[in-house]
Amino acid sequence: MVQCDLLIRGINIASMSGNSSYGIIENGAIAIRDSTIAWIGKEDLAPELKTKKTLSLPGKWVSPALIDCHTHIVFSGNRAWEFEDRLKGKSYQEIAKSGGGIISTVNETRKSSSEDLLKVAKNRLNVLQSEGVGTVEIKSGYGLDLSTEKKMLEVAKELENEQICIKKTFLGAHALPPEYAEKSDDYIKYICEEVLPELHNLSLIDAVDAFCENIAFSNHQIEILFEKAISLDLPVKLHADQLSNSGGTELAASFGALSADHLEYTSQKGVEALAESGTVAVLLPGAFLMLNEKQKPPIDDFRKMSVPMAIATDCNPGSSPICSIRFAMSLAANLFHLTPEECLAGVTSEAAKALGIESKGTLEIGKDADIAIWDISHPNELAYWLGINPLSKLIIAGKMI
Ligand SMILES: [Zn+2]
Repeated sequence: MVQCDLLIRGINIASMSGNSSYGIIENGAIAIRDSTIAWIGKEDLAPELKTKKTLSLPGKWVSPALIDCHTHIVFSGNRAWEFEDRLKGKSYQEIAKSGGGIISTVNETRKSSSEDLLKVAKNRLNVLQSEGVGTVEIKSGYGLDLSTEKKMLEVAKELENEQICIKKTFLGAHALPPEYAEKSDDYIKYICEEVLPELHNLSLIDAVDAFCENIAFSNHQIEILFEKAISLDLPVKLHADQLSNSGGTELAASFGALSADHLEYTSQKGVEALAESGTVAVLLPGAFLMLNEKQKPPIDDFRKMSVPMAIATDCNPGSSPICSIRFAMSLAANLFHLTPEECLAGVTSEAAKALGIESKGTLEIGKDADIAIWDISHPNELAYWLGINPLSKLIIAGKMI
């Protein structure tokens, strides 16, 4: 006899686990006890169940709640003027070099109160949640000083509640702040010695990220930061090979990074390094679209080498003002030619790996009961429709949202 609090029955399940396509279980049922899955399978094979409540949903599909594994949603202001400049022909690098880009958001975010930051971030989070997202990674990196990085991560922490899981990533090495102009080594020293340890002591950091690029930080500087992160037992991830091939992917893999993100210019050697280290390739097709990039990540090579591919919004005010995980899925399909199944895995099972979360991303006995319920006739519709929200219900940690 299986005791449970909630039994969902009459459903078709895209469990995203096992070897079959989408891990489909037709005519299935899921029994939830407390916040986890107590039983899942074909309904006619269910053991004797004693439940407090039953939800009968004939014809509906369920999948793991979606995971947005790369966002920058805590920021103030916007950069629509920069969008306009880019449309008039300026490149992202030119805008960054002329004082625009990330630094303009840093200035706005430094001035903003915690309350205002919380308000705007909460709105963005609600939009993601309305599409079925149950876990969101949020990066700092618009402070670039101790007090603002702390403010951003505290806001991220405050966003976490029973209805949404938040992973907080320290992105102090996002850009060089104006007060450290021409002194990037000193800045890396500052964040390694003063910022990172302090924020880690306050339990505000789940992982450490950096931006490896000729307009950002060098491979050697990132090595110094990652060594510090590893010494604090913090996992690392990296914005790598987005605008040029700097060997960032190999660098991330050499540190056993959870993920390497962007990867438009990743070489064959980089792909092999990811395969060897088990690092997830996080694809950010929104930034590719908004920056009008031409070179695509080496998707076929990732497939050949069985590198797990996740997809995220990269929601940020500069290169990806996109707050829709399903739009990111559609872009991954239409721009990068991922299959609809790869797209759904990219925001469930593979996104969970990119965050180092073992309890989410698939529907299996013992995993968290984070479940999205959909009005669709097949899970391939989730990367297909745009402008129609097929979410029917969202269950997070066993509770209906
Ligand atoms: Zn990013």
